Amino acid sequence: MKLSKRAQSLNPSPTLALTARAKAMRGEGIDVIGLSAGEPDFDTPEHIKEEAVKAIAEGFTKYTPTSGIPELKRAICAKLQNENNLDYDPSQIVISCGAKHSIYNIIQVLCEEGDEVIIPAPYWVSYPEQVRAAGATPVIIATDETTGFTISPQSLIDHITDRTTMLILNSPCNPTGAAYSKEALESIADILVDRGIWVISDEIYEKIVYDTVQHISIASLGLEIKALTLVVNGVSKTYSMTGWRIGYLAANEQIAGMISNLQDHSTSNPTSISQRAALAALTGPQKPVQHMVHEFKNRRDYMVERLNRMPGISCFLPQGTFYAFPDISQLRGRAYKERAIRNSMDLTELLLAEANIVVVPGGPFGEDNHLRLSYATSMDTIITGLDRMEELISAIR
Ligand code: PMP
Ligand code: GLU
Repeated sequence: MKLSKRAQSLNPSPTLALTARAKAMRGEGIDVIGLSAGEPDFDTPEHIKEEAVKAIAEGFTKYTPTSGIPELKRAICAKLQNENNLDYDPSQIVISCGAKHSIYNIIQVLCEEGDEVIIPAPYWVSYPEQVRAAGATPVIIATDETTGFTISPQSLIDHITDRTTMLILNSPCNPTGAAYSKEALESIADILVDRGIWVISDEIYEKIVYDTVQHISIASLGLEIKALTLVVNGVSKTYSMTGWRIGYLAANEQIAGMISNLQDHSTSNPTSISQRAALAALTGPQKPVQHMVHEFKNRRDYMVERLNRMPGISCFLPQGTFYAFPDISQLRGRAYKERAIRNSMDLTELLLAEANIVVVPGGPFGEDNHLRLSYATSMDTIITGLDRMEELISAIR
């Protein structure tokens, strides 16, 4: 069987695979604690679901324009203006089947063989895969806790070559929860503008921030950087709408047009009903979002505090998202009842086999000294999961 080189370069998504495994175990009646899911545990707010039901009843069930319905594009422009201080015209918006699809489309349109795309690590698992799927090469910049898991201007400069096409920035970041300050973004923007490098700004977690952290879009820092930025966002995380598959991008009109052409020949429009639901999400009451973020904050505080008390583990305080990313490097090279812990995957397997807890290893995020634990699950689940984890970790010799 002949497969394309492109297809052969791809790996399955470990975040999706582990979450599916947790669900399957639960289906078999196993008492499993899932701390892997990258989706809010809250139900989609009622008014959003009602709008979808209404859309179906009205027969809003046909093709829409490929890049999305005008009302939703206008609502996205209003959101970008009011919340991010960004001025876009509806012709610059493309709505797709999730932010993952928006990012895929951008990379397909702007990158090709020979191009290098800079990705700060730890990174969301799909970035390098999507870059490889376009035939381009991911160039990784390692970061760690000493810089709050953010890249320094010098490290960015050191990784730029004459083949660099793009940087992928994700703030707040999955999996670390790190958020970039305005000053840090300004330094990055200066470098990109100087060299004419594109930047995907993945802002999917923008509303899920804690304490005094304020999300800032790099595109809002001046017209020159805005011209180079592809802003990506969506409704999955903010409105607990992961299954509805609505994401969007804002870009210059020519790129938006090309992405729409690509989408014409791949998926066509994102689901008509979901677009109506997304419209209700963006224009309706925002109280459910505040409630969810409030709950996430309590869970974050609890989880990070408990992790930091476990022997051999330390955990950075995430400024946003719903993930904790504990450092497990002190446990590597040790063992639990003869089972060696060589890397993050070994510890993940151990937690699953001995404690029925599903987490995601840091390795696929580009950082093998860490695990990713999601706190997008009930406090009871978190407490039980951490109790079990603590017992196991304490027995590692
Ligand atoms: N970006 C990041 C960093 C994510 O964690 C996710 C989660 N799946 C996405 C993009 C894509 O989200 P969706 O496709 O559900 O809009
Ligand atoms: N983004 C989420 C995660 O990181 C959902 C799964 C995925 O699409 O990767 O877990």
